[in-house]
Amino acid sequence: MNHKYKALYAQLVESYYQGDFEGTFSKILEEAEEPEKIKEVLAVLCGVEIDQADTEFNYTQKIIHGLTQNNVRQKIVQKVSSCNTDCEKVDGKSKCQSVCPLDAIVRDLNSNEKWIDDSLCLNCGRCVEVCEKGNYLDTQQFLPLAEILRSKQKVFAIVAPAIAGQFGSEVTLDQLREAFLKLGFTDMVEVALAADILSLKEAIEFNEHVKKEGDFMITSCCCPMWVAALRKVYHEFITEVSPSVSPMIAMARILKSLDQDAKVVFVGPCVAKKAEAKEKDLAGDVDYVLTFQELEIIFESLHINPEKLTGVPTVDYASKGGRMYGRTGGVSSAVWDIVEQIFPEKRELFQAVQVDGMRECKALLDELREGKIKASFIEGMGCKGGCVGGPKAIVDKDTGREAVEKMAVDSAVKIPVHSEVLLNMLKKIGVEDVKDLKHGNEMFERSFQ
Ligand code: SF4
Ligand code: SF4
Repeated sequence: MNHKYKALYAQLVESYYQGDFEGTFSKILEEAEEPEKIKEVLAVLCGVEIDQADTEFNYTQKIIHGLTQNNVRQKIVQKVSSCNTDCEKVDGKSKCQSVCPLDAIVRDLNSNEKWIDDSLCLNCGRCVEVCEKGNYLDTQQFLPLAEILRSKQKVFAIVAPAIAGQFGSEVTLDQLREAFLKLGFTDMVEVALAADILSLKEAIEFNEHVKKEGDFMITSCCCPMWVAALRKVYHEFITEVSPSVSPMIAMARILKSLDQDAKVVFVGPCVAKKAEAKEKDLAGDVDYVLTFQELEIIFESLHINPEKLTGVPTVDYASKGGRMYGRTGGVSSAVWDIVEQIFPEKRELFQAVQVDGMRECKALLDELREGKIKASFIEGMGCKGGCVGGPKAIVDKDTGREAVEKMAVDSAVKIPVHSEVLLNMLKKIGVEDVKDLKHGNEMFERSFQ
């Protein structure tokens, strides 16, 4: 969320846990200089849809009703206030327009008012960060989730590999797990475990798809911005894209196949994942998405300090390759490690290229169109540095990258094919042999056509 709203959000979270939400919310509205303007912001921070036509209840009651009914807001990035001012211009564009990867922010030439063209918006969240006036905001999903956590249902936090180092350079996964338990979660699981499965799947697909010099495949792994660019602008390459779900979706599906009543919450540095979780063919797999920055506010508001906790260990640790997904090149190196092990005859053909940042992704795909790219495995990440450079990371991308690499190297499992944890997990979901992870395995497949 925009820094302008952090204190307000902390106030809402704290009051919710202290049982004084209604009083605090009403007071915020009463004291607001422009109550009508703040109402939209509050609805987005609370993450609920408001029935404007309903005249029976006041605004506070409508918000509380939305929370108790779990009426989660569908829209992710939205404009929360009107803006016709000329902020500092970059290349003739307003700040928000200059960071928008697909030129989704449109300006009326007469009024200068700007709005988001939803058909182009990738929900990357860059405009939210860059607008100092706080005119853009992404939907926060913690308060509807807090209601579920309070009801003691089974709720799993699945954490992105980029979590390494975000809550303190020495904070371990075990300490983070304890912090999540304190919030009311049932357990915390590494998404990198599902990344391990998808690396295996993509290695098998590479073996089937790339048979000779000039053949290539495009990884679909992890990044919804990369996938959206391929679907919206570079559709002619869709047949070369691995038809795999992201590790986030794969992990959620595994957990729900083991316990269909479980709720799953993804925690990462990414706003676009909030939109991915709502895509038509994926809706219902991940129930809520939180970002690292939101989680930091939540921990602080509720006085949970992961650094001070002793930690709760698990037996389900991911491999080096899965954990490397947190930074650019992680997917390529994980898939390469497996190709080298189980398809040694394909070593010569495996030539990976990686690119990060949306402008760079588009430039690479343009070159691919022109036949200038010689690689056989193509990886793109929407953010500079990969997920460690995501819009909602807490630490800078270089610090994040170092922490991800350290956590990856520290893993006792170097390659997923050697992971007992992974093989046991696959058996539990009915996959007896890793080579069965090819096309047709519905749990990990999706169509981009
Ligand atoms: S969320 Fe991203 S794609 Fe959408 S309008 Fe903002 S900057 Fe553009
Ligand atoms: S690279 Fe950026 S947009 Fe892509 S998944 Fe990671 S954080 Fe999200």
